[in-house]
Amino acid sequence: MTPEFQAHIARLLHHRKAGLGQGDPVVPPIIASATFHLPSVQTGGHIYGRNGNPSWDAVEAQLAILEDAETVSFPSGMAAIAAALFATLKAGDRLIIPSDGYYVTRVLSDGFLKPLGIDVQAIPTTSYATADFTGAAVVYLETPSNPGLDVVDIAAVAARAHKAGAKVIADNTTMTPLLQRPLDLGCDLVVAADTKAPAGHSDVLFGHVAGRDGALVSRVRDWRRMAGAIPGPFEAFLVHRGIETLEVRLDRMCSSAGLIAGRLAAHPGVTGLRYPGLADDPSHWAVGGQMANGGFLIGFELADAGVAESFLSRCPLIEQTTSFGGTHTAGERRARWGDAVPEGFIRLSVGVEPAEPLWAAIAAALPG
Ligand SMILES: *Cc1c(COP(=O)(O)O)cnc(C)c1O
Repeated sequence: MTPEFQAHIARLLHHRKAGLGQGDPVVPPIIASATFHLPSVQTGGHIYGRNGNPSWDAVEAQLAILEDAETVSFPSGMAAIAAALFATLKAGDRLIIPSDGYYVTRVLSDGFLKPLGIDVQAIPTTSYATADFTGAAVVYLETPSNPGLDVVDIAAVAARAHKAGAKVIADNTTMTPLLQRPLDLGCDLVVAADTKAPAGHSDVLFGHVAGRDGALVSRVRDWRRMAGAIPGPFEAFLVHRGIETLEVRLDRMCSSAGLIAGRLAAHPGVTGLRYPGLADDPSHWAVGGQMANGGFLIGFELADAGVAESFLSRCPLIEQTTSFGGTHTAGERRARWGDAVPEGFIRLSVGVEPAEPLWAAIAAALPG
């Protein structure tokens, strides 16, 4: 993080100060009102709970600082992704998506966009570098991809996509805006599941879309108002609280992930280890450039499904869940969902536990 970016991020914790009056709560209140006092429609302020809510305003102000862009919040990462796609596509358009990224994005595209006349083309993350974007309306990328941790050169892909006349949407969930800045690298919209590291406590689903083109972000906001995919005020409150500690949690998670990845790589029972932070990883070239560090996700293989399941159930410091980015270290065998990975492939999301006891528990659960 550059000193300028650190100074920018320090504002996150104080973003409400300038708007506070004597006796106002420092923490944003949960405003659970569907209706707002509205004697006139002329005078601004809140109108109706589907249009806006002060609890969303608080978290959107934080996200706007994080993204350095206008931000629209959603009740889940998928609601944000759907909004970005429906706001940018029309019948006859071609959409390029990763064949190895978050699978629900693919299922949504195939099941709901294709029938509306959108030509959905899924390509591997590693082929974005050379793919022909001619005729594409939207190039949607995810880097590092979940769960394979392959990366694309965001600036290069955005430049080529723009040359072809396409808009570029980046799913930045695996990195967060603290570790990777797709809008600075030329993307038109960023989408993210704040369910993961930003909220960070595995107790809420949330998402957002951010962008610097006012007309495009307005269209995303209109989609939210018309589709009705709106976050709840309590969820917004939880995410606001989570984001206050995002930077310190990521610091621990990423440094522990670096340590654990190196030790896993040296373990005789482990193969196919992927962690962009390791010097010999195929994605390592992006670390120190578009990625601030190697992140908190590790992929690796154990001998087969049985060995992998037994490792996960034996390790007392790994929660067996399907999400990532939370305070608890979490792991799962991705093939159980049909991801195109080997049967014994595990995605490990490193949490905030002290690193040495975490490694000791992992080492003790690994096969002989
Ligand atoms: C989890 C995830 C999503 C979806 O987020 P939800 O909040 O579960 O809807 C989208 N993209 C990526 C990369 C994810 O990991």
